[in-house]
Formats: sequence, C-alpha cells, structure tokens
Amino acid sequence: MATLLWLQGGACSGNTMSFLNAEEPSACDLVTDFGIDVLWHPSLGVELGDQVKAMLADIVSGKKPLDIFVFEGTVIRAPHGTGRYNMFADRPMKDWVAELSGVANAVVALGDCACWGGIPATAPNPSDSVGLQYLKKNRGGYLGPHFKSKWGLPVINIPGCPCHPDWVTQILVAIASGRAKDIALDDLQRPQTFFKTFTQTGCTRVQFYEYKQHTHEFGQGTRTGCLFYEFGCRGPMTHSPCNRILWNRQSSKTRAGMPCTGCTEPEFPFHDLMPGTVFKTQKIAGVIPKEHQTGTGTLTYMAHAVAGRIAAPQWSKEDMFVV
Ligand code: SF4
Ligand code: SF4
Repeated sequence: MATLLWLQGGACSGNTMSFLNAEEPSACDLVTDFGIDVLWHPSLGVELGDQVKAMLADIVSGKKPLDIFVFEGTVIRAPHGTGRYNMFADRPMKDWVAELSGVANAVVALGDCACWGGIPATAPNPSDSVGLQYLKKNRGGYLGPHFKSKWGLPVINIPGCPCHPDWVTQILVAIASGRAKDIALDDLQRPQTFFKTFTQTGCTRVQFYEYKQHTHEFGQGTRTGCLFYEFGCRGPMTHSPCNRILWNRQSSKTRAGMPCTGCTEPEFPFHDLMPGTVFKTQKIAGVIPKEHQTGTGTLTYMAHAVAGRIAAPQWSKEDMFVV
C-alpha cells in the first residue's frame, strides 16, 4: 500500500476540485482499487490541529514512511524570504515542503502554480511565489535544479489551470503501483503520455485551421472557423491532451468555441495578462501571427497560409450547423 500526503501552498484549490471529478480512475478508486493510503489532504483529511502536526513530525522523522508527496499551489517565500505569508502547522509552509520533499519517494507538482509559479508568480509577484522545481520555464524553483526524490526522480510536473483530473489519478496509480520510473518525462518534467501531443490534436476545428478560416465570435461550438487567427487560440503551440482526453468526458475549450490559453505551458499566463493580449492573436504588421504551430518557421507558415486560403472550399466558409 502506497502512502500519499497532499498539501496546498499558494493555491485556489482548483486542482483539488478537479481531482474530485476524476473518472478513470476516480478519487475513490485510488483508495479502494489501488490501495493508496491517503495520510492527509487539506479538504479530505479528518485530523485537525495537533493531530496533523504529530503526523507531519512522524513523516519528517521517518517514523511514518511517505511514498507520494503531492503539492498544489506555489511555494510562497515572501516576505523577505521568510515564507511567513503562508504559515501551516506553526511553520512557514515552505519549510514543510523542503523537509517532506526530502523524505518522499516521489514528489508530484499539481497544477501550474506548483509546477512553475502560475498566475501568482506573474509580475510583480508580491508573494515571491515559485514552483517546486521551476520558475516559469527556468529550472530551479524552490527545490533547486538538482533535486531528486528518494527514488531518484525529479519532481513530476502535472500542469494545467487546473490539471485534468484523469491526468492526476492515472499518474498517481502508476506511481503507487511501482511504475514511477517508467513514466517518461519531457524536457519540462511532464509525463509524455499526456504532454507529447498538442491541444490541437483532435480538435474538431482543424479543417478550418488548415483552410485558414477564422471564426467570428466566441462560443460557436464547432459551427464555424478556427480560433487561432483572431482569438488567440494557443492550441497549435500548447502541449496537452485536452482534445484526446475530454473534459467531463464530453468536451474541451476549443470544442465549446473558446480559445486554448496555453495553461499547460510554463509561460502561462502569457504576456503577464497585459491589456490586449488575452483572447487576441498577436500579429506582426497586423496580419501575420507572431507565434504559430510549434516546429514551423514563419516562411513555412506563410506559404502554408497562402496555399490553404487558395484551396479553401466554399463549405469551409459557411456555417456548418443547420437545424
Ligand atoms: S488553433 Fe485552436 S481552435 Fe483552431 S484547430 Fe487548433 S486548437 Fe482548434
Ligand atoms: S484547452 Fe488549453 S487552456 Fe484549456 S485546459 Fe487545455 S491546455 Fe489549458
């Protein structure tokens, strides 16, 4: 039976809310079918006050073994490096994070904030927030670039704002069943099984993307056009399985007619949310998107765009939904 401890730092609890909606497997399945022993969770744990402090002390001293340490939210270091803006069980949370990470067999960062700092680390970052092993895309973060858990693994990053519940439960099952070392990670320590492909992979708008036809308004479902050309969709540049492993088992942002904002990438929120950068494609000379499909140069993109527009059939310019 694998033991699991879940703590929250600078967090909105969004990843916990998401986790509780998991279906394949569900949060209950983790306990009943996969034998995970949840030592404590801030929303689910029944222990309070001194009981929690005693349990944490037992884990840190090694009396109670810890297999999986899950951290949600940023590590808060303000003010002046003391971490006292985020106190927990009589100490700055950052001190617990350092000690618990040191005794855990595997450490999992859940959500953008724990992975790379996320929205709290956006300038001017008043809480001096960092992720466990990254600050934005710079490796290091709170635990440092060379951190390894007791099983010799770096922090396993499961990003997203929030992350999809099934990404979480499936990785926890892999770790709990002794397959942690089989989880192939990418350059940003994300499990490749989820983050090798793009949000665009499986998007129902790809035909409009190919023919360079843009939609004219949000929320049009799959009726018209692609969200890339005007509404800032980051689907071609964002590593996520959001159109392979659907949300609520039935949809995704782009299927519902809203652009992907790239929440699984360390630069999220892009452009530090400066006015005019959200839900709006950034362009050169008002025409050419500044960023395009990962792995495609600007000249290739332009050649493809011209050919796509010339080839676009009439149906690609029409409303596809007829009652
Ligand atoms: S750019 Fe966005 S909306 Fe368009 S096909 Fe790609 S993921 Fe879908
Ligand atoms: S579609 Fe994009 S912004 Fe939405 S959850 Fe997926 S990666 Fe994040």
